Amino acid sequence: PSGLVWLRRDLRVQDNPALAAALAQCQQVHCVFVFDTAILDALPRQDRRVEFIRESLVEVDAALRQAAGHTKAGLIVLHGAASHEIPALAKALQAQAVFAAKDYEPYALQRDAAVHKVLQAQGASLVQMKDHVVFEEREVLTQMGKPYGVFTPYLRAWLAKLGTSPQPLHTLPTPCAQLAARPAAHAHAVPTLQDLGFETTNLQTLAIPTGLSGGAALLDDFVGRMDGYDETRNFPAVKGPSYLGVHLRFGTVSIRHLVNLARQRMAEGSTGAQTWLAELVWRDFYVQILANFPQVATGAFKPEYDAIAWEEGERADALYAAWCAGATGYPLVDAAMAQLNQTGYMHNRLRMVAGSFLVKHLGLDWRWGERYFATHLNDFDLSANNGGWQWVSSSGCDAQPYFRIFNPVTQSEKFDAQGKFIRRYVPALKGLSDKAIHAPWMAKPMELLAAGVTLGKDYPLPVVDHAAARGRTLLRYGVVKK
Ligand code: FAD
Repeated sequence: PSGLVWLRRDLRVQDNPALAAALAQCQQVHCVFVFDTAILDALPRQDRRVEFIRESLVEVDAALRQAAGHTKAGLIVLHGAASHEIPALAKALQAQAVFAAKDYEPYALQRDAAVHKVLQAQGASLVQMKDHVVFEEREVLTQMGKPYGVFTPYLRAWLAKLGTSPQPLHTLPTPCAQLAARPAAHAHAVPTLQDLGFETTNLQTLAIPTGLSGGAALLDDFVGRMDGYDETRNFPAVKGPSYLGVHLRFGTVSIRHLVNLARQRMAEGSTGAQTWLAELVWRDFYVQILANFPQVATGAFKPEYDAIAWEEGERADALYAAWCAGATGYPLVDAAMAQLNQTGYMHNRLRMVAGSFLVKHLGLDWRWGERYFATHLNDFDLSANNGGWQWVSSSGCDAQPYFRIFNPVTQSEKFDAQGKFIRRYVPALKGLSDKAIHAPWMAKPMELLAAGVTLGKDYPLPVVDHAAARGRTLLRYGVVKK
């Protein structure tokens, strides 16, 4: 039989369960990626994610050729509506089965159901394999057989289920005789960004490494730092985290490989590895939350939080614009937003601080922030982003209580004590002392003058007062208590 492997968010040939299943079951295997217009049409024309995918596909294409051992193999790349392109290609290739990694997001579920239906009508099938997570939605359940809504017991159950043996990895045999020649109509190079109607971004200037090689390079670098992760991860000016988010998002690293590595280090007593593994479990946790409670994609996990009245109107729009532009007058928040806007990355501590600021200082609907992050984060993942935003707004599972309101100045003093991160992203403030940089409106006029900062001109005055905002938030959230 003939099989078609449809890559989506698993852009690698090594340890790819869909590819492994196709190779185990079919004599002839083709691989395809579709630049899906149903997703792309809504994106800005400069999008680092599209460029990341495009560059990663170049590697997949080359890796397939290398694995096949002949130059006629390679990745078929299409540009169109995936729900139409996939069944049409399967038909043209006379594929009896399309193999794909399971995707738990609402759009993906709908798309895959539609594709499955058309394939069935053609006498073929869609075979979905678990890949994105270690355990999917029905695999880690409470004793009552219900999904977990609280992280700590989930983590415990997850670790127990994982057991002690390493996660098995699928290695690709080489040469891999089943990898078939591409039909002439599809035997072309991966389209350029311009072919796809997109423009080049600053991805390469930022030196964000793409593809399997990029994921491996970042991982290599992180392995040397993993032991210190528990101590460094909260400080945005320090190279603490792995920066693997975008690779996990697009599958240019294997989650099973990461788990094995972390576990190996834990066995050697690394507390950093233990903390990092727990972060990978948060990722599984939010994926199962989205899969089991798909209503979180639009509303609060705790429905009583949908009663909150958020700010609206011109003032709310202006506050939102200031937040997006990194012009709130709170340096750490502004530096965080500048990092996001310039690089597509934001440090986890700052996602919490900037997110909390939008919701609990500006009084804006968390979905506004969720949408902004969704457009700008390279590692945007609906489940983790939604989970993060529901955490900061206190409406989510296991969220922080609503009366816990991050103080953006004390967060700044604690996590960027020397203002190193602020100086990098808000250069207007770089002449201020380590003490004044966290709250320039409190600085002595002489210091501002010496640093060349005129508030309201070189850097904004705070758009809201912390104490007043805190009071308004406690009132706003009052509806939840009743
Ligand atoms: P590391 O610290 O090295 O962690 C390794 C990996 O673990 C991450 O790449 C990620 O896959 C996973 N992870 C870590 N923390 C979390 C978490 N809290 N929840 C789920 N997974 C986690 N993460 C995303 O992957 N995509 C998002 O769209 C996203 N949006 C967020 C929005 C908000 C408001 C908040 C508070 C957090 C969000 N996170 C999101 C979680 C976290 O901030 C990022 O995963 C992390 O900062 C990515 O950087 P890293 O790869 O260097 O992480």
